[in-house]
Amino acid sequence: MNVTEYRNKAVFIIMIIIVVVCSIILFSKFNFQRKYIQTGLDYNGYKTVVIISLDDLSRPSESWDNAIKMLVNKKLPHTVGVITNKSDWNYIRDISDNEYTEIASHSRTHDKLSVENYDYESEIGGSKEEIFKNLGVTVVSYILPYGMWDDKVSKTLIENEYIVFRTHVNTPLVKGLYLSDHEIEMGNLWGTNDTETLNTAFDQSYKDNKIYHLRIHPAHVNWANNSYSDKHLSYISNRSDVWYVSMGDFYMYNLNFARASTSESRGSG
Ligand SMILES: [Zn+2]
Repeated sequence: MNVTEYRNKAVFIIMIIIVVVCSIILFSKFNFQRKYIQTGLDYNGYKTVVIISLDDLSRPSESWDNAIKMLVNKKLPHTVGVITNKSDWNYIRDISDNEYTEIASHSRTHDKLSVENYDYESEIGGSKEEIFKNLGVTVVSYILPYGMWDDKVSKTLIENEYIVFRTHVNTPLVKGLYLSDHEIEMGNLWGTNDTETLNTAFDQSYKDNKIYHLRIHPAHVNWANNSYSDKHLSYISNRSDVWYVSMGDFYMYNLNFARASTSESRGSG
């Protein structure tokens, strides 16, 4: 082997080593992020999290009055999904004027995703604009009508800078995080009006350190004193080791957390 051949061989081996080392570094970074994303929802030091979301706010109604009044009395933050094309904005401004209500979009028309010529931009971006125009609020949460979504919904939500959207089973973050939560609906539409069933669902989340997500269609709930809603909301409230937080605030907190961790790992490597 002459000197040139020897040098070529050495260069080749060094290049192979560089490629292998870079691959290991890249793979470990990718792996770190993936693991972080799947397990890393942070509870801000609490044992568990309570997230409450309410659907179909649009016009004045006694059930909405009662729902918000009860949640505020029990100091429970909650997220309300507004259908924006026929809303009574004065009413929505009035009932959301407290420190516990987060406004979310619940689309413009509440159309099913399966209708012909579904207008993604108008439903998702248009509803956000209407809320801003009428309430001066920049929403970050989106509640999907009928829980239906596809890749184009996801893309349109990202383009319109939403942070979280809620379906019926799991609640994915727009940026790609998924939350395996214990979710239950209270009321007669798709849920239960049995206090014991609701309380047991909360106990299970609490025991497993999982997020407890309570879904509500206020029009289908009995809001009377001492009803199941009163009893269940009292049961889950006022616990010192539970983080009561709106959907948007919870994910904003976690998004910052995820970004901080990612940049920290980039800095050290
Ligand atoms: Zn709805």
